[in-house]
Amino acid sequence: MYIEFGPMGEKVTIFVEVLVPVPVPKTYTYRVPSDWNEFIIPGIRVAVQFGYRKVYAGIVLSLSEEPPVGYQAQYILEILDDKSIVTTKQLKFWHWIADYYMSYPGDVMATALPSGFRLQSETKIALHPDADNQMYSITDLDPKEWDVLQFLVSKGIASLDEVRSKLEQKNVLKTIKSLYMRGLILMEEELKENYRPKFEEIVELNPEVWENEASANAAISALERRSMKQFNQMILLLGWNNKPIVLAEFLRHPSADRPTIKQLEKKELLYIRKVPRDHLKLRRGDNRNYELTEEQFQAVIEIRAIFNEGKPALLEGVTGSGKTLVYLEFIREVLNEGRQVLYLLPEVALTEHVVDRISKWLGVEVGVWHHYYSSHERTELYERVLSGDIKFVVGTRSALFTPFVDLGLIVVDEEHETSFKQFEKRPYFHARDAAFYLAQLHGSKLLLGSATPSYEIQQLVIQDKVGKVQMLKSYHNIPAPEMDLLNLSDLKKMGAWDGFLSEPAKHAITEALTKQQRVVVYHNRKGYVPYVQCDLCGVSVECAHCDIALTYYKSSSNLRCGYCGFQQAIPEKCTACGSHSLTLKGTGTEKIAEDLGIMFPTARIARFDQQSIKKRDDFQKILLAFERGEIDILVGTQLLAKGIDIANIGLIVVPDADMLLHIPDYRSHERAFQQFQQLMGRIGRDGKSGKFMLQTHQPQHPVLQALIHQQYNELMEEEMQQRNQFDYPPFRRLIRVEIRHADAETSYNAARFFTEILRKQINESVLGPQVPPVARVKNKFIQQILIKVPRNSKAIGAYKQLLWYAKDTLHAQSLWKSAIVDFLVDPYQ
Ligand code: ADP
Ligand code: ZN
Ligand code: ZN
Repeated sequence: MYIEFGPMGEKVTIFVEVLVPVPVPKTYTYRVPSDWNEFIIPGIRVAVQFGYRKVYAGIVLSLSEEPPVGYQAQYILEILDDKSIVTTKQLKFWHWIADYYMSYPGDVMATALPSGFRLQSETKIALHPDADNQMYSITDLDPKEWDVLQFLVSKGIASLDEVRSKLEQKNVLKTIKSLYMRGLILMEEELKENYRPKFEEIVELNPEVWENEASANAAISALERRSMKQFNQMILLLGWNNKPIVLAEFLRHPSADRPTIKQLEKKELLYIRKVPRDHLKLRRGDNRNYELTEEQFQAVIEIRAIFNEGKPALLEGVTGSGKTLVYLEFIREVLNEGRQVLYLLPEVALTEHVVDRISKWLGVEVGVWHHYYSSHERTELYERVLSGDIKFVVGTRSALFTPFVDLGLIVVDEEHETSFKQFEKRPYFHARDAAFYLAQLHGSKLLLGSATPSYEIQQLVIQDKVGKVQMLKSYHNIPAPEMDLLNLSDLKKMGAWDGFLSEPAKHAITEALTKQQRVVVYHNRKGYVPYVQCDLCGVSVECAHCDIALTYYKSSSNLRCGYCGFQQAIPEKCTACGSHSLTLKGTGTEKIAEDLGIMFPTARIARFDQQSIKKRDDFQKILLAFERGEIDILVGTQLLAKGIDIANIGLIVVPDADMLLHIPDYRSHERAFQQFQQLMGRIGRDGKSGKFMLQTHQPQHPVLQALIHQQYNELMEEEMQQRNQFDYPPFRRLIRVEIRHADAETSYNAARFFTEILRKQINESVLGPQVPPVARVKNKFIQQILIKVPRNSKAIGAYKQLLWYAKDTLHAQSLWKSAIVDFLVDPYQ
C-alpha cells in the first residue's frame, strides 16, 4: 500500500493497528506523525502509550487512512525497528493460538517474543557487570548511547521511564535495544535470573611450576606443609580433566572456594584470566555417515508416501528402534532444499541430549531454543532465524514461536508427552497440536514420533487424517527386560516390606551393584511430597496464601509452597494446637536418596529431578556421570522417563507404582502405561536384558497386566470404548472454565451465575461448578466448570462464543467485576 502522499500530493495521515503485549481483547489504533510515514510498515515495533502513563513496545499489524471510531487516536511515540521483526505467518499463527486457546493475542505476543523485543516503561535495566571492561574501548557509541550508559553508572538500576524522563530522549527504546544487543546492559528478567556474563574467568596453571617435575613436587609438598586447604584445592585443579578450567564451574565443587584460589594465585601457582565468551554457542555438527537398517529404510519410504498424500505422519517405534535417524533423513532432505526445520522435544534435558547426538550426523548449525537460555541468547537466535541464517532449530514447546521464514518440516518427538502443554500461564497451548496448524500455514511436513503414541493421534490415524508407520525392532537388539510385579500386601504379611523397599527389591539392587550395573529408583514426585505434620492434631503446615501443605526442602531446610513459591522456616510448634511434636511425612526424592544412602552405604547416589538441576548443563553432567559409572544409583522423577537414552541400566525399581495408577483424571491409564513403558525402554544394552521391578498393591490392575503382556493397543481399545461412552476426548473436546476470587463466597456465586448462563443453552454439556483439589491458590478461591464440546468445528465455535458472552455478562455485574475468568481449552491434553 502506498499512502505516503494523498491525491493532491499533500502528506496523508496514517493510522496503524497496534498489538500490545497485554491481555485485552482488541487491538488499538494509533496515529503516525506524518514525518514518519515512509518508515512505517507492518511487523515493526512502535512505542505506544497504553493505559495511564504506561509505554509498551507494540507491533504494527496494519496501516490505514481511516481514523478509529469512538476515540481520538494518540500518536505513536517511537519507531523501534527499521524492518519487520514478525512475519505475516507469525501473526496469523499468534491469532490462531489466541483464538483456539481462548486467550488474547497480547498474551501470545508476550510468550512469543524474547524479552529483548518486549520493552515497556516499567522494564528495569542496569549496567552489565562486565560493561565497564568494554565501555571505554568501544568507539562507535553514539552520544545517546553514551548518555544512557553514564546515567546507569550513576543510578545503578533504572526503569525505562526514568531513563526517558531524565535524559529527555525521544528514541530511547531503540538506544536501549542497541546497548542490550551489545551486552552493555542487562534487563530486569536477567537481573532476577542468573545471567550469563560476557566474560568468564579461566584458571591457568603456571607452566613454569607445573610442567617441571621437580618444581611441581616442591610446590606440592610446600602446600601440604602450610595449608591443607590450599593443598586439596591444588590437587583438585591438577586433576581437573577438562581444559580450560572455568573458575565458576570449578567453584561449584563442594570443597572449592574463591579465597583459596586467590591465595594460590598470589603464590603464582596459577593465573586467573578474564576472557570473553561466545554468546550464542551454536554447535556445528560433524556430518558423519550412517547406514539405515532395513526397517528404518522401509519406514522412510512409507513416511515419504504419506507426505506425498499431503498428510502428517506418525512414527510408532519401540524404544531404541532408531527413530532419530529416520527423522534425520527428512531433516537433511528439507535442509538441502534450503527450507527450515523445527525439531520439538518435550523437555530441556532431552533437547541438550538430542542436539549432542544429532549434530554428529548433521553438518549444520543448530539453534537451540528453551528457557534455560538467557533472554539475550534467545533474542539473538530469534534474529538469526528470522534472517534465514539459521535453518535448524531444536527446542521445547516455545520454540514453536521462532520466526521461521520458510518452514519445510516439523518433527515432534515423544509426541505423547504432557509437557508439550503450557499450564503455567496464558496462552495454555499444546505445542504438538499447534504444530498441526503451523505446518499447514507453512505447507510443511509434520512428523510425529513415539514408542507409545497418544490416543488422540491414534484416533486421527483411525480417521485417516494421519498416516502411521511402525518400527518394532530395537537397533542394538536389546531383549525386553524381565518384569517383576512385587505384591506389597503379600510382602507385608511376610514381614518383607516396611514401607519403602521390599526385601526382593533390596536384594535386586545389591545384586545389580555387585555386577556394576546402573540402578535407577524411579519416583514420580507429583502429588507426593514431604510435608510437616503435627502428631497430636494432624494439622499440617500450610501456605499462608494457598490451601496446600508446604513442601519440606532438606537442602535449604525450610518449607516452600509448590504453587506460589512462598517460603518459611519450619515452625517450632503446631499453629493449631501448640504441640511441639511435628514430624516429616510423605516421601520425596530427597528422602528416598537419603534412605538409599543408609541401606547401601558404599553406593554413590545422585538425584535427577527439577530441583537438583539448576543450569542447562546440569542435565548432561548428571547423565554423563551416570554413564561413566561415577554414580551407582540415580533417583529420578518423570524427567528420567522422557526418552533419555542412558546406556547400561541394569535395574529400575519403582517403589510406589500405585501412585502412577491413581492420578485423578480420565487419562490416568494412558499416562501410566506410557510412563512405565518409557522407563522399561531405558533398561538393558547390547543384547543384555535387565530387570524392571514394580512395587504395587494391585498386581492385577489392567495397566500393569497390559504392560506385562505388552498390549498397549489392546488397553487403548478398551479405554476408548469407555471414553466414547462417557463423552471424553478424543470423542469430545473439553474446555475448563476457572473462576477465581479472593472471597470464597463471591467465587462460588460468580461460578453459579456463570454456569446458569451456560445451562440455558447447553445444559447437558456443563459439569460443575466444583472446587478443585487445591481450592485456594495465591489467595484466590477457585471454582471450576467443565464443558464437553461436540467435536465439530461449528459447535466448537458456537461454544466458545457462548463462553466469551458468559464472561462479558458476568463482568457486567458490579458484584463480580473483580472475578477472574480463565478458559483452558483441551485442559488435560
Ligand atoms: P529411539 O529414539 O527410537 O528410541 P534412537 O534413535 O535413540 O532410538 O536410537 C537408539 C540407538 O541406536 C542410538 O544409540 C542410535 O545411535 C543407534 N542407532 C539406531 N539406528 C542406527 C543406525 N542405522 N546406525 C547406527 N546407529 C543406529
Ligand atoms: Zn502458596
Ligand atoms: Zn497440632
